[in-house]
Amino acid sequence: MESISCTMALTLILFALPPQSSAQVVPVSVRSSAGAFRTDRLSPRQVKLWNSIRKIVLAPDPHGRPLHPHLFGFWRTGEQSGHLVFVEFITDKERSSNIAGESLIENLDPTGRTHLIRLRLFIPTIDRAYAGEQAPQEGLEFVPFLGLKHQRRYAKVLGHELAHIAKVFLDQDYLLLIQEICVEQSAIAAGVGLDGKLLSDVALRERLDRIWPLVLESEKPAVAAEREICRELLAGQR
Ligand SMILES: [Zn+2]
Repeated sequence: MESISCTMALTLILFALPPQSSAQVVPVSVRSSAGAFRTDRLSPRQVKLWNSIRKIVLAPDPHGRPLHPHLFGFWRTGEQSGHLVFVEFITDKERSSNIAGESLIENLDPTGRTHLIRLRLFIPTIDRAYAGEQAPQEGLEFVPFLGLKHQRRYAKVLGHELAHIAKVFLDQDYLLLIQEICVEQSAIAAGVGLDGKLLSDVALRERLDRIWPLVLESEKPAVAAEREICRELLAGQR
């Protein structure tokens, strides 16, 4: 398998939906831990933010067990996977849109041993996201930020992206689904079909219509995980 670069679903929202402030659609050579998460791409100030989010993820309950077991579980899966997850924070308002988080396979190791994943959190988008309930958009569900404050908002978006990443690491069928989406996504982004010719607006729409059910399928486990994580985070801040 060739090295491929692709995104897990969320960037497609840019093509399919008008910008929504609330859409959810994941340096000083520091390692955040002995595991897979790499903070090399963060500025020193961003490393501080990362550490404050990490503290939430790793927080224990009074019995010493994880306070947010689902969130912690996805983190551990990533950390112990042997793959590399490079964390990036987009803090520049100019570079943020309707996307709160994004995971991208930067390099797929043909041997399956060390994939390279980029996990991005778009901080200004998360900060300004509408917190209340929203109706699903084209079948895509949103988990509200309601009641979550400050870093817990980032932890919620991180949890969603970690759920995608953990599933990619653990489930070959899910990896194939993501790859199929990515191939289509690249064609749509380039506006070019398999025959190398430019796609018409109608052809683009057709491809989006074909791929959208796959995107919804790929989002299901991440959204389900995010609901659990959201409950844990709300309970944990009381
Ligand atoms: Zn997602």
